[in-house]
Amino acid sequence: MSRFLNACYQGLEAYVPGEQPTDMAYIKLNTNESPFPPSDAVIAAVTKEETEKLRLYPDPECGALRDALAESFHTSRENIFVSNGSDDILNFAFMAFAGLGGKAVFPSITYGFYKVFSQLHGIDYETISLNKDFTISPEDYYHKNALVVIANPNAPTGLMLSTEQVEAIVKNNPDNVVLIDEAYIDFGGTSCAPLVSKYDNLLVVQTFSKSRSLAGARLGFAVGNKDLIADLEKIKYSTNPYSINRLSLLAGAAAVNSPAYYKEKCGEIVKVREFAKAELKKQGFFVTDSAANFLFVKKRGVSGEYIYRKLREKGILVRHFNTPEIADFNRITVGTKEQMNALIEALKTIEKESQVEQ
Ligand SMILES: *Cc1c(COP(=O)(O)O)cnc(C)c1O
Repeated sequence: MSRFLNACYQGLEAYVPGEQPTDMAYIKLNTNESPFPPSDAVIAAVTKEETEKLRLYPDPECGALRDALAESFHTSRENIFVSNGSDDILNFAFMAFAGLGGKAVFPSITYGFYKVFSQLHGIDYETISLNKDFTISPEDYYHKNALVVIANPNAPTGLMLSTEQVEAIVKNNPDNVVLIDEAYIDFGGTSCAPLVSKYDNLLVVQTFSKSRSLAGARLGFAVGNKDLIADLEKIKYSTNPYSINRLSLLAGAAAVNSPAYYKEKCGEIVKVREFAKAELKKQGFFVTDSAANFLFVKKRGVSGEYIYRKLREKGILVRHFNTPEIADFNRITVGTKEQMNALIEALKTIEKESQVEQ
């Protein structure tokens, strides 16, 4: 820290992203990326000609991408907001709907960025404990008079609220925004985006990073009432009106226009998830009923940190969180069947090695 950093940021604890090591080729099951490439249409959209146009600024309105999303969500352009990754949108939403003296509420175990954005913007935040089985009780989020933020499915537990439960939370918070972060909704869940036509306080955020194989393009979007979207636009135009680069705009629109490809790939990930879950249970792991592209697992009597470290030595990266309540667990991204077989074999070996060590 320099002696020049503003006092208001000196206590800020920045988000720690999953490791992206370059020292060797790992089987990467730590940041919930897709194991599949983007669709052929996406790859075809990024041409030499379009690359040459990088000398020009992109369309600040992101018209083509918003229109493609509006069509796929049966809504209008004015109900769609896009920016540079859904983290960017979450940041704007915390500013717009809770910033400077406002309040936010979210589960105690959830996506780590919610707390960081609260601290960054001087937002008073309340965290609500999950139930013992990691489920969320919707009633805990009624009448909060604060920005309510829920990842659905939740991360890193993978557990999901039903559309009815989300609607009840929205209904019981008539005077504040409810933000539903649907980063993992395409792996078997049902989006609550259709509810935005009924409730002016619901903002649904999704990303191209997981189910659409575009983590490297940095692209996210929100669906909401047109006034909420206008508020987010105001923040975007007050920070970085060109927040999405030209090539990502093209890639995103092409991805939205390849629904069959992505549906097939998400279906495959769900199948492999269920296969890996059953195998891990056979090995004695506790595995939550994840509706996402990751599994959240622990083994009685073995520390999560130990498993993380042993897997890393064997060239497999998973995500371990030091948070006390979930320190026994690891979050494992669902990769290809081959990758999951490698994981399962490595865990068997680790089990044998640990018996020898004891
Ligand atoms: C991955 C993730 C995001 C961030 O997505 P980007 O679009 O890559 O910024 C947001 N929310 C949750 C819950 C996530 O897991």
